[in-house]
Amino acid sequence: MAALGNVTNTIEVLQKHQFHFRKKYGQNFLIDGNILEKIVNAAQITEQDCVLEIGPGIGTMTQYLAERARAVIAVEIDKGLIPILEDTLSAYRNVTIINEDILKVDIGGIVREHNGGKPIKVVANLPYYITTPIIMGLFEKHVALQGITIMVQKEVADRMQAGPGTKDYGALSLAVRYYSEPEIVSKVPASCFMPRPNVDSTVIRLTRHEKYVSAVKDEDFLFAIIRASFNQRRKTLANGLSNAGNLGIDREKAEAAIEKLGLPRTVRGETLCLEQFIELSNYLIMAEA
Ligand code: SAM
Repeated sequence: MAALGNVTNTIEVLQKHQFHFRKKYGQNFLIDGNILEKIVNAAQITEQDCVLEIGPGIGTMTQYLAERARAVIAVEIDKGLIPILEDTLSAYRNVTIINEDILKVDIGGIVREHNGGKPIKVVANLPYYITTPIIMGLFEKHVALQGITIMVQKEVADRMQAGPGTKDYGALSLAVRYYSEPEIVSKVPASCFMPRPNVDSTVIRLTRHEKYVSAVKDEDFLFAIIRASFNQRRKTLANGLSNAGNLGIDREKAEAAIEKLGLPRTVRGETLCLEQFIELSNYLIMAEA
């Protein structure tokens, strides 16, 4: 089977199998070899690595990954793509194709079965309609992983990288920073895909770290505080916290915690950095006890 990553061979495969794109699955296949090289280089794949690819499509990036990694596990939801993948990847003994929904499959089980529970690398040109649940799922379930190198919609990459006080800053920015170090790898124009998406894309690498884990008393509570603070973006932090029914924090307690942090009573949640949210949630948990 010819190498993919260019227009001619992609069209040939699509015609051979009479494949019709399914919009609901966010199918935009990469047809640019330079971008594919950039992604796999950024992911720093070595021949010891086990790579999880989310949404292999017709196997374009899978071929690049299989050339470098020890093992590639490719999880694809679209049943119609499985015979195509079996064809385009027939030369590779180190690829396992799994026909499942990435949001439902037991990723921890995959890591145990294929990499003895040791950290894997995730590489994907993600289906944009479920980017955030996929990334949050990987982090929150504490899947053993070294890093995630992914193509996302440009606006999502901007939100992942944003800092306090900017319009893109929010719960996603804080979650990404809590679990990883984000770094933009490359911008990718719509012309690199077939069919062309209506949005610009960006490749971003999230290198996993554990540096905040020991500092946090209750991770679920921290993220509940963060979500409450951004629910009503234009309101003060004290309002956001005391209006969130699920937290059990009244106005007095919210203001005392804010004062303890040395912040003005009228401060807005969007100005706090991750370390301040951690301090705030730890203080509120202690006050509860
Ligand atoms: N990796 C290929 C490439 O770069 O050419 C295809 C990328 S395409 C943007 C996204 C792929 O994810 C499609 O093949 C789509 O069918 C698949 N997909 C969509 N939703 C999925 C899900 N919930 N679980 C697994 N795969 C999914």
